[in-house]
Amino acid sequence: MRAGKPLSAAPRLRFAPSPTGALHIGGARTALYNWLEARRRGGVLALRIEDTDRERSTPENVELILDALRWLELDWDEGPVSQFERSDHHRLAIERLLESGAAYPDPATAGEVRAAKAANPGLGYRGSPRAVPGAAIRLRVPDQGETVVDDLIRGPVSFPNRPQDDFVIARGDGTPLYNLAVAVDDAEMGISDVVRGDDHLSNTPKQLQILSALGASPPRYAHLPLLHGPDGRKLSKRHGADSVQELAARGYLPEATRNYLALLGWGTEDDTTILTTDELVKRFSVGRVGRAAAVFDETKLRWLNGRFMRDLGAERYEERLAEHLRRNDPEALASFAAAPPSTRRAASEIVADKAQTLAAVWPLISFLFCEPQIDERAWSRVMSGEAPALLGAARDRLGALDGWELGEISAALEALVAEREVKPGQVYQPIRVAITGSTVSPGIFESLWALGRDRALARIDAALARLGVASAG
Ligand code: GLU
Repeated sequence: MRAGKPLSAAPRLRFAPSPTGALHIGGARTALYNWLEARRRGGVLALRIEDTDRERSTPENVELILDALRWLELDWDEGPVSQFERSDHHRLAIERLLESGAAYPDPATAGEVRAAKAANPGLGYRGSPRAVPGAAIRLRVPDQGETVVDDLIRGPVSFPNRPQDDFVIARGDGTPLYNLAVAVDDAEMGISDVVRGDDHLSNTPKQLQILSALGASPPRYAHLPLLHGPDGRKLSKRHGADSVQELAARGYLPEATRNYLALLGWGTEDDTTILTTDELVKRFSVGRVGRAAAVFDETKLRWLNGRFMRDLGAERYEERLAEHLRRNDPEALASFAAAPPSTRRAASEIVADKAQTLAAVWPLISFLFCEPQIDERAWSRVMSGEAPALLGAARDRLGALDGWELGEISAALEALVAEREVKPGQVYQPIRVAITGSTVSPGIFESLWALGRDRALARIDAALARLGVASAG
């Protein structure tokens, strides 16, 4: 067994998810904190898949976790290592513990264990070694003293040894149990820093006892406070998005998600809230994570995401949108990708400050890439009264323009509004319905401009024909 790395060596961290489901928001935060800490300190991040629960671990869940990490753009340097495939190492460690007397075989039944504990109140279960086939293997826990977890976030947490049972490290059939596997893997992988959720704090004294019995130096531990929903209850499905895939589907940017997750438990000294990933890497420190439960509030994530979307820049915007459509709407991606680059760029420009999430973008710009679907209710509401005549007049003004610059379009339509002494919406809404099929779109001048002269005029003509109004053509 290799002892823990000397302090001067580069730190070695690990993210160790159990593939019993998708990666949840709490797990994503744990992954991010490990990644940030490893990157800031020039260390190594290993990925270990804790798949020893053979019933609940599935290859599909492993794929979901890898997909989530890739989507979050959190890369790892070693692994993925399957914990299950390391069971030979776990068994060897158990043999060593038996040889040294730190562990012993104990065939006691659950009833015998209960009876022994009842006979010695306040003392954890202490069995007596009996090497019979099918005996479970227990680790000896001292009667005296305490096991102290010197936690980077909580400070020292002591667990008295006396009430703790000699605990099982291998089942009667020889299967190594969870805490044994984690301690052996952490030691053999040379892990220097364990950053994980504080639901694991109660496992830590057991892992420390195993490490000590193996003669391995323990890693430093940091247990992250729980995540709550805005109602103060433990974060769960009822608070909305709970998996990384769900966040991706809702159109959050990986960079905004990283920024928001970093702030769940940690903050900068000057309370900056918008941080690029480079800034996070420079400034994050797991030692400065707070002790209180952090609140995941999707409305804050959405706000932050809107800020990132606005500042992406057209090129990056286009890339992010295409990635989002690839994951969530391949048909839309096909229409988007088939359009001329100038249309894609124009779409990104006119929508940049209009959508808070990538999921909100396509409905706003699809009219640039597909024939509009007329929303009949919007049509009948808007295309009444003066609307057909005003639409016809707008068509004439637009058709008479020499060019198709944004300034020309807006000047022509503003002049029409002024001359007819109508409200702007009376001119703009019929045009909007004519060119997009709906009453919701980016700014009307921008929308006309992005659509291009020929397509814009053709759609207005089609609307006029539908209304039975002859256009000047
Ligand atoms: N596999 C554990 C989990 O997914 C994490 C164990 C650890 O980080 O030590 O909760």
